[in-house]
Amino acid sequence: MNRNLVCRCELRRLDATSQDDLVDMTFVDLAQWTASAFENKARLCFLGKGIYLSVRLEGFTNYVLKAKVMTLVEKIDRLKRDKKAIILAHNYQRPEIQDIADYVGDSIGLSRRAMEEKEAKIIVFSAVDFMAESAAILNPDKKVLLPTLGARCPMAQMLTVEQIKRWKVLYPLAPVVLYVNTLASVKAYCDVCCTSANAVKVVNSVNAETVLFGPDHNLAEYVRRKTGKTIIPIPERGFCPTHMLFQPEDVHVLKLKYPDAIVMVHPECTVEMQDIADFIGSTSQMCRHAKKSNAETFIVATEEGIIHRLKKENPGKQFVSAYEDAVCPNMKLNTLERLYTSLKEEKYVITVPEPVAKKARKALEKMFELK
Ligand code: SF4
Repeated sequence: MNRNLVCRCELRRLDATSQDDLVDMTFVDLAQWTASAFENKARLCFLGKGIYLSVRLEGFTNYVLKAKVMTLVEKIDRLKRDKKAIILAHNYQRPEIQDIADYVGDSIGLSRRAMEEKEAKIIVFSAVDFMAESAAILNPDKKVLLPTLGARCPMAQMLTVEQIKRWKVLYPLAPVVLYVNTLASVKAYCDVCCTSANAVKVVNSVNAETVLFGPDHNLAEYVRRKTGKTIIPIPERGFCPTHMLFQPEDVHVLKLKYPDAIVMVHPECTVEMQDIADFIGSTSQMCRHAKKSNAETFIVATEEGIIHRLKKENPGKQFVSAYEDAVCPNMKLNTLERLYTSLKEEKYVITVPEPVAKKARKALEKMFELK
């Protein structure tokens, strides 16, 4: 019988790549199995259900190592404990990441949670670049990791420092209010930051009737309608490619099937979508609204990752995406595997140079001061 062949197939299927991946290890005497039966052909060999043999353990040649292969989630949990790390995940992350996170929320919730964290030495920020940057700015004493270096928000890239400077020449007296979906270098040039949850409150708080607001022109229009102030969008047409996918026509079709459904729309969606909404709000505001509403069905116009959280928190209610393909490819770059590697190798560390961080921190803190 070619036992090594059997062993190798099983090993691959179970994804045990090293002894570190094993738990509940005990040595079991198995005199009939000798070292020569295995030679050095595999590090771990399958013997029976849940039993693995290490052939590299010198001095234990007549013993088998009985162990369970750890799941990826168990490995992440162990690393979290060993390294005193926490995982913060955005509402748009994959369901399996949301399920292992210590906190799931929108950008303001995540930033607050990061600021309040006292114990952790490492924060794994499962989201996109600008969010991890904000966490790094607010937590200069902690190591902030982004699991995927290329997870970049395209909207955040749409506004540059040079553009702000140009608009400031045209409107020298107008304060600059920037959505947190901006890079740290750009935040350093604004008076105060805002999120989609508090944008109206922030703009109402500034002592000016004309405000430079960026980078999302749909959110700018929402704020203009709610505050009555003159809102100058910078750049003129900044947008989120994912939220631009929602169309009123798709919602009308869904309404034929779910006539009593409540339509919840994110303010990054187009004005036409905002016009047909029963409720407009950030992802966390949507979660609160769904909980307290008596409605049973909701049509949701924001990135599809939120549906997992909504269903989990409201088991008796039904949530339908207003457009199932509205998936942010950048948010979805983060996977469990990448998160594991990130924690294990402590990469990718997000840092912001202190002169930039200092100015950006001021704009973020000013936002947090508004209760
Ligand atoms: S959903 Fe839109 S705003 Fe959010 S990270 Fe993706 S591209 Fe950026």
